[in-house]
Amino acid sequence: MSAPTIYLINCYTLSSTSQFDLAMPKPLILLIVFAVLTIPAYAQWPAADAQRLEERIKTLATHGANADGGVDRVAYSQADLDGRAYVRQLMEDAGLEVRVDAGGNIIGRRAGSDPDAKPIMFGSHIDSVPGGGNYDGPAGVLTALEVIELFNQAEHTTRHPLDMIVFSNEEGGLVGSLALTGKLRDSALDVVSHSGLTIAEGTEAIGGNLENLEQDQLHPGDLEAFVELHIEQGAVLDNNGINIGVVEGIVGIGWWDVTLTGIANHAGTTPMYLRDDAMLAAAELTIAVNEAATSRPGGQVATVGRIQAFPGAPNVIPGRVEMSLEIRDLDQTVIDEIFVEIQRRAAAITTRSGVTIEFAPVDVASQPAPTDSRVQAVIANAAEQLGLSHRLMPSGAGHDAQDMVAIAPTGMIFVPSQDGLSHTPREFTSAEDLANGANVLLSTIAAIDDGALQTTTEAE
Ligand SMILES: [Zn+2]
Repeated sequence: MSAPTIYLINCYTLSSTSQFDLAMPKPLILLIVFAVLTIPAYAQWPAADAQRLEERIKTLATHGANADGGVDRVAYSQADLDGRAYVRQLMEDAGLEVRVDAGGNIIGRRAGSDPDAKPIMFGSHIDSVPGGGNYDGPAGVLTALEVIELFNQAEHTTRHPLDMIVFSNEEGGLVGSLALTGKLRDSALDVVSHSGLTIAEGTEAIGGNLENLEQDQLHPGDLEAFVELHIEQGAVLDNNGINIGVVEGIVGIGWWDVTLTGIANHAGTTPMYLRDDAMLAAAELTIAVNEAATSRPGGQVATVGRIQAFPGAPNVIPGRVEMSLEIRDLDQTVIDEIFVEIQRRAAAITTRSGVTIEFAPVDVASQPAPTDSRVQAVIANAAEQLGLSHRLMPSGAGHDAQDMVAIAPTGMIFVPSQDGLSHTPREFTSAEDLANGANVLLSTIAAIDDGALQTTTEAE
């Protein structure tokens, strides 16, 4: 695990001066006092309360708690309703003006001082996958709430209104963010969710109103910015002892159903040299997929995750194999190029084996979603100033932020996932890492409120 440093900025002056060697010359003391007093504006904020964050994570985890220590808090279930009620109460207690929008998102507003300034929105989700953990989603929601608490504590009124958001049904297809950005398709409304309710029924059950979707939709230019904090769900930060991930973007996904057709025949009487074995070709193709992804620099990934042989008997040479192919990258061109390379290798396998290989694209409609380079720079700067290590990285998993990219300058902050585990009860992020993330989120929102996006042009 990483061993991050929490800078309690408000205590910094006291603890530093108490260590002064009083025998040192006066000018030096004055110089040090001057240096401390001129810590830039971002250092004025109170530090996140790690204990409060952890207690809230634990309380939220009681809603839908399962026997393995995680949660079954799928969207629209009673556990989801209970979790939402708990968070909503916390939001109201923090003084936010809370409403549920047409898509079932909970939005709490903290008023700003400038009536012409656009809102800054930040938050995540609290629904889980079946058999999920206690941090995927809640980390982003409860650190967003922590930011509100810290602004309250500092008695600071931002210029922009602040909108804290709890997106509805993230795990079931980014429903809340698609609704908010006007991209929720009618066909999605009839999809039956894990709760047993359709998306339409579920959205109404949590207080949404599908008739008002258009009226509640956000358009490009409506927000000053959107920022989401999330657990990494991978092991890059944890393995490298890095505190903060500055997300460059959410990767796009290409998905294909692959069919390999050979000739089914008797496994005992057909000599090896006379076989058109579809399974053998599938094995070669699986290796080719791996090689196509690893034979060039970059963070692209390619996976065969599902495979089935037909007829599927021990004594029959498989005549047909169906398998999946998935390719992910931040750049659509890279996805396209790797697919072309896989097709080239597949053609060579067909020539060698006589097994034909067909690729049918599956519509998962997920284009790469790069985050705003100015927001990246603000996040990196916030981490830097707080003394936290950070690195640029892609998000291999989907998030509500990928929908928000279309309508607002968007950024994402990752905090470490212990051992990279996610979507399991064993998912864990330390209270210290959550507090670090909340401090970065606070500084990021404060900097954006101060006009950072108007003056910042590039990521570091
Ligand atoms: Zn999530």
